[in-house]
Amino acid sequence: MTAQIIDGNQLSQQLRADVAKRAAALTAKGKQPGLAVILVGEDPASQVYVRNKVKACEDNGLYSLLEKYDAELSEADLLTRIADLNNDSKIHGILVQMPLPKHIDPTKVIEAISPRKDVDGYSVLSAGELLTGLGGFRPCTPYGCMKLIESTGVSLKGKHAVVIGRSNTVGKPMALLLLQANATVTICHSGTPDLGYHTRQADVVVAATGRRNTLTADMVKPGAVVIDVGINRDDNGKLCGDVDFHAIKEVAGHITPVPGGVGPMTITMLLVNTIEAAEREL
Ligand code: NDP
Repeated sequence: MTAQIIDGNQLSQQLRADVAKRAAALTAKGKQPGLAVILVGEDPASQVYVRNKVKACEDNGLYSLLEKYDAELSEADLLTRIADLNNDSKIHGILVQMPLPKHIDPTKVIEAISPRKDVDGYSVLSAGELLTGLGGFRPCTPYGCMKLIESTGVSLKGKHAVVIGRSNTVGKPMALLLLQANATVTICHSGTPDLGYHTRQADVVVAATGRRNTLTADMVKPGAVVIDVGINRDDNGKLCGDVDFHAIKEVAGHITPVPGGVGPMTITMLLVNTIEAAEREL
C-alpha cells in the first residue's frame, strides 16, 4: 500500500481563497483585516518568515504592517510599540517574530499583546482558553495540522493519536486540539522510552521534534495518518522532516511531505486567525 500524500500547498490555496473572500467582505464593511508583524534583529531565517507573512497578507487582501527594528531595540521600547498597536484600530493581529535578542524577555512581549490580537495564540490566556475549551486563538502550526488531518476524511473520534514533542507552540497545543476532536491522545518526548511502542498503536502520529528520522517505518501502524511538522536538513543540505518519508509512505495511509505539507499551512492559519480577529471585532 502506498500512502496518499496530503498536499499542504493545495489545501492552503483552498483556505486562502476563503480568507480572501472574507477579507473582501470585511473591507466592504470598512474593516479591512490588518496584521502587524514585528521583527527585531537580523536573523536571516526570520527575515524570510516575516517577508512570507507580509506577502501572504498582500496576496489575500489583508492590510499588513511590517516593522523592522535593529537588534539593540530596548525591551521597554518594544513593549511601548506593542501597546500602541493594541490600540490601533487598523490592526487586528499582532505577531512578534521569534527568536528575540537575548536582552528581551519573550514572555513579557507575548503577554503584552492584547488577547484580542494574539493571532499566534502564544499567550498564557490563549493557552488557557485552549486548555479549557473557551475558544481563543489556536496556535497556527497545530491548527494547520488539524486542517490537514481533516482533509484526509479520517475521523478522529475514538482514534488513538500520538504527538511526539511537547513544546508550548506545537506539541502541547496539538495534543489539546486532538483531544478536543475526541481522539485518545498520548504525548511523547525526549524522555519517552521506546517511542515505537506508542507510535505503533497510533491511528494518527504528529511528529514535532526537529530531529530527522524520529519516526521510521517499523514504528508506524499500517494505514495511519502521519503528520510531519519538523524542518531539518539531510546530509546533502536538502530540506526534510522528522519522519522517514520514503519508507513510511509504503506503510501509512496518509502522510504529509516536507516541504509542501505543514509548512504552507502555518502562514495560512495565521491569516485565518487574523480574519477571525477582525470578524470578532465587528
Ligand atoms: P522544540 O525544540 O521546542 O521541541 C521539540 C520537542 O521534541 C521537545 O518536546 C522534545 O522533548 C521532543 N523531542 C526531541 N527529540 C526527541 C526524540 N528523539 N524523541 C521524542 N521526542 C523528542 O521544537 P518545536 O516544537 O518548536 O518544533 C519542532 C519542529 O517543528 C522543529 O523542526 C521546527 O523547526 C518545526 N516547526 C515547523 C513549523 C512549520 O511551520 N512547519 C512551525 C513550528 C515548528 P523534550 O521536551 O523532552 O526536550
